[in-house]
This record gives sequence, C-alpha cells and structure tokens, in this order.
Amino acid sequence: MSAKIRLYVEHPLGDGQSVPLDRDQAHYLFGVMRLGMGGQVLLFNSRDGEWLADVEQAGKRAGVLACVQQTKPLQMPPDLWLLFAPIKKARTDFIVEKAAEMGAARIVPVQTEFTNSERIRQDRLQAHAIEAAEQCGGTYVPEVAELQKLDRLLDHWPDGRQLMFCDEAEVGAAKRLAASTPGQPWAILIGPEGGFSDRERARLSALPFAHVVSLGPRILRADTAAVAAMTIWQQALGDWE
Ligand code: SAM
Repeated sequence: MSAKIRLYVEHPLGDGQSVPLDRDQAHYLFGVMRLGMGGQVLLFNSRDGEWLADVEQAGKRAGVLACVQQTKPLQMPPDLWLLFAPIKKARTDFIVEKAAEMGAARIVPVQTEFTNSERIRQDRLQAHAIEAAEQCGGTYVPEVAELQKLDRLLDHWPDGRQLMFCDEAEVGAAKRLAASTPGQPWAILIGPEGGFSDRERARLSALPFAHVVSLGPRILRADTAAVAAMTIWQQALGDWE
C-alpha cells in the first residue's frame, strides 16, 4: 500500500462517516498535496483510532471525505505530562514536536523564576503537536496547555501524580529514576536556560511526589534535556516494549 497522507480532524470517525473539511484542510489536501476525487487519506481524531477515507468532494475551500475502514485502533500514550519552561521560539517548537513524538499525553509550558519568555502562542504550539502526530503515525494528539506559573501548578498538583524533577544541580550525581509501578500518572519537569532558582529547588525537592533526577555528567540544553528525560522515563515506565 502506498504511503498515505495522515490528517488530524476533530470530527467523529466511524463506518461510512462523512467528514467535512475546513478551508485549511481542503487547501492542504487538494491544493498542496494535489489529491483529487478517488484519492485516499488516513484520518485520526484522538478518540476513534485511524480510518482510511475516500475523497468524496474536493473544492478549493472545502471538501468531504468518507470513512471506509478502521486501519488502527486508538493507542493512548502513557499518562505522562511534560512540563517545560519555554525558551527561544525554534527550540520551544522542537520541544513540543519531540514531546508529541515521544508519547507525552499533555504538554504544559510553565513559567519559572528564570523563564526567558512570558508569552507563548498556544495555538501555534498545538499545531506543531498535531503535525508531529500526523507524521509519526500516532492516533492521539497531546493537548498543549496555556503557559502557567510553576508555583501555581504545584499549589494545585493532582493527587497521585509523580514528578520527575530534572535538576541541573545534580549534574553528575548518581540520581537515576528509581523503578516504580508502571501505569501511574507522571510528569517530567525541565527548567529554563537559567535553570531553577534556589527557592524553586528547595520547594521542588521537598515535595513528597517529586523524584530528583540527574541527566548525566554534562549540563544539557533544555531541548536536549526534554528528549533525554522522556527517553529515560519511557524506557523505565512507559509504553516502550
Ligand atoms: N543554567 C543552568 C546551569 O548552568 O546550571 C542549566 C540549565 S539547563 C540548560 C536547562 C534544564 O535542563 C535544567 O533546568 C534541567 O531541568 C535540565 N538539565 C540539563 N542538564 C541536566 C542534568 N545534567 N541533570 C538534570 N537536569 C538537567
């Protein structure tokens, strides 16, 4: 079977279901990718798995697809949040893209004391997560939350969620992620270019649900650290068989 375009849609998917396309989707499929009547696409919506769909109507500004058969069941990622302090635009985009590929269930930009940026474009970051899921064959797109203050998030921390606190102060220390029960909700926390303040480090280290972890003998850039931490977590507790 030839490689098919994968497209995330919000519409329900199911046997014989018609799926209307918005202007951007129609432009992408029929304008950019030159798909026409008789063409086929793979659709997913984070709920109904992946579906093969035929092009039923193709216009410049709109179109309709029709679901033919399910090609993959929904595969939910593990209940892992990636918390990170936004850095420069391209590196923040990279973190979101890699988090979606690596199987984060939710991506939460957090403002720490030394966070460089006070604003994010949540809609743009969400679009990056969608593109990453389309490209990597996933059937689920992680939500990218609005930027929130780390302190506030910790004030309202959900019961039972563990926190892998990646602390640059532990560089080179033997602080590995200790084995714990798979299937628990977790979050990974990566700091900004300037690292964590002493006050933040003291607060985080004292939290009963926090697990302080070192990412080896070198200080990694935040984007590298995010990928390294997700790799360690996935290997130990995630859905890598
Ligand atoms: N400016 C800080 C310093 O010089 O110590 C470095 C911050 S680092 C660029 C950004 C984030 O990546 C850190 O806050 C931490 O979450 C993570 N990180 C990088 N290297 C790490 C390491 N070896 N161990 C644990 N976390 C690390």
